[in-house]
Amino acid sequence: MAPRPLIAGNWKMNGLLASEQELQKLIGGVAASDGSQREVLVCPPFTLLQAFAKRAAGSAVGIGAQDCHPNLSGAHTGDISAQMIKDVGGTSIIVGHSERRTDHGESSDLVKQKAKAAQDEGLTAIICVGETEAERDAGQAWSVVSDQVSKSLPSGSTASNTVIAYEPVWAIGTGRTPTIDDIAAMHDDLRTAMVGHLGDDGNSVRLLYGGSMKPGNATEILAVTNVNGGLVGGASLKAEDFLAIISAAS
Ligand code: PEP
Repeated sequence: MAPRPLIAGNWKMNGLLASEQELQKLIGGVAASDGSQREVLVCPPFTLLQAFAKRAAGSAVGIGAQDCHPNLSGAHTGDISAQMIKDVGGTSIIVGHSERRTDHGESSDLVKQKAKAAQDEGLTAIICVGETEAERDAGQAWSVVSDQVSKSLPSGSTASNTVIAYEPVWAIGTGRTPTIDDIAAMHDDLRTAMVGHLGDDGNSVRLLYGGSMKPGNATEILAVTNVNGGLVGGASLKAEDFLAIISAAS
């Protein structure tokens, strides 16, 4: 059986306290729709994590974070640990987003440590992978992505504590997306790789597509075999758009 789809919103560095109203609209919309088919997650910036987790408590919307430090605590000025995220009600952590790999020079080895920190706290690690446009043009998309997966996946990963998000870097925030055939081919290869890493459990790992997913293309993308949901940036900021994507997964 295909894994239950997950639609996750990555708010990036957006949102102020007043954005709780947008979350409230989302919670109301999700409650009004048939939730049996999919899971919904919102990952706001750290400043909103506790308020959002409190607001979403008891609802069908989970709250997650966008990064964590590999350690539980200590002398790491400006960083936030998986334990802290769990403490305020977070259930999942995005790790290895391309903006962190690029802006902060994060290696797959560091991403693996962060994913492990999340898993050790009982949280779900959403591990992001994806090729640049130059890598795709050079025919290296799969070799780049498979290398990122191998190096970012901690031992002890399971279908319950791990989600893989395939996000072609050139599709993030650009309005461009790969063809449906290219998405299908990448997700089929990812499925095979996850079975190689985790055995039969790899069939149940959710494989999200991310990169300019919006209401207009979500139905087609989410219908692809081995696409088990989406990681949504810009279109997750407005409840109306995010709800349209969520209903495409239902
Ligand atoms: C993302 O940053 O995870 C993302 C998919 O962004 P967007 O949907 O805006 O392309």
